[in-house]
Amino acid sequence: MAQTVLMLNRGFSTSPSAMTAIKHVTVIGGGIMGSGIAQVAAQSGYQVTLAEINEGALQTAKVSIETNLKRVAKKVHKESLEEAEKFVTNALSNLRPTMNVMEAVQSTDLVIEAVLENINVKHKLFSSIDPIAPEHAIFASNTSALSIQEIASVTKRKDRFGGLHFFNPVPVMKLLEVIRTPETSDETYGKMMAWGNTIGKTTITCKDTPGFVVNRLLGPYLNEALKMLERGVATAQDIDTAMKLGAGYPMGPFELMDYIGLDTHKIVADGWHRKFPNSHTFRPSEILETMVAEGKLGVKSGEGFYKYDKSSKL
Ligand code: NAD
Repeated sequence: MAQTVLMLNRGFSTSPSAMTAIKHVTVIGGGIMGSGIAQVAAQSGYQVTLAEINEGALQTAKVSIETNLKRVAKKVHKESLEEAEKFVTNALSNLRPTMNVMEAVQSTDLVIEAVLENINVKHKLFSSIDPIAPEHAIFASNTSALSIQEIASVTKRKDRFGGLHFFNPVPVMKLLEVIRTPETSDETYGKMMAWGNTIGKTTITCKDTPGFVVNRLLGPYLNEALKMLERGVATAQDIDTAMKLGAGYPMGPFELMDYIGLDTHKIVADGWHRKFPNSHTFRPSEILETMVAEGKLGVKSGEGFYKYDKSSKL
């Protein structure tokens, strides 16, 4: 099914190499994002290899993928326990976890990198797998904020390199930002767009610019909310209520930061500040610094701008 949709490639290039359908996907990095990407690809019918360097992380990924697949199966196949079990068994049979990154890329059509957000780590990885992966294989990074062109610069396949930016939690969030650099070929771009659709995502196209679309808008918005709280304009609760009832947002900015994790938002905000040191919007927030230093990280730590009990799900 996945391949059929892919071959109906909506009028993109049909040169012989474009017809090399994506059948096998290698996901590198089995953390929060990589495990989610591997799950959705496997449940959509692709053969998936999930490669990790940390055994504990790989075990955690396996457990969380199975748990999430069961949750999806219950929803999708409400009426039939048998179909639900088949869904989980099929998806798991499509997935091969491994600790051998080099072997994982030897025979694949698409490599999606979801390792640490660090340019040196990503460069080291891509320069080591570039000579080993098949010529036709597309490389993609799930980076949130690094330049795709800069990541691709260490490879010899800059035309077969792009960004596939997923959102957390991957199985739930419908959006996939597809990023093309000036060097990404039309064929690669077409394949990434088509593949994204076959795994049930709504794709949008974005240039290789800081924060792409969502994070470029979200970063300043969340920081402005912190500044507003610091100026004493309104309480966090009232700002959240205002944005939900006045702007129709499903969550207020403080609820959203609690969900993202205040430590994660701080890393992102600090990155924006380094990029735009003269911008008032990106000046570090005292409230954020203090809360992170106190271990108030949001839902994951049980307290952020709100308090959460243990049953609160991330
Ligand atoms: P994470 O820390 O949960 O997972 C990263 C994993 O990569 C770890 O398990 C680590 O052991 C593994 N790893 C590191 N180097 C490796 C290597 N050379 N080979 C194989 N595995 C390796 O991180 P994450 O939150 O999943 O983020 C991964 C990427 O996705 C980052 O670039 C991040 O910016 C991006 N991203 C994150 C989010 C989010 O909300 N967490 C959203 C969108 C994009």
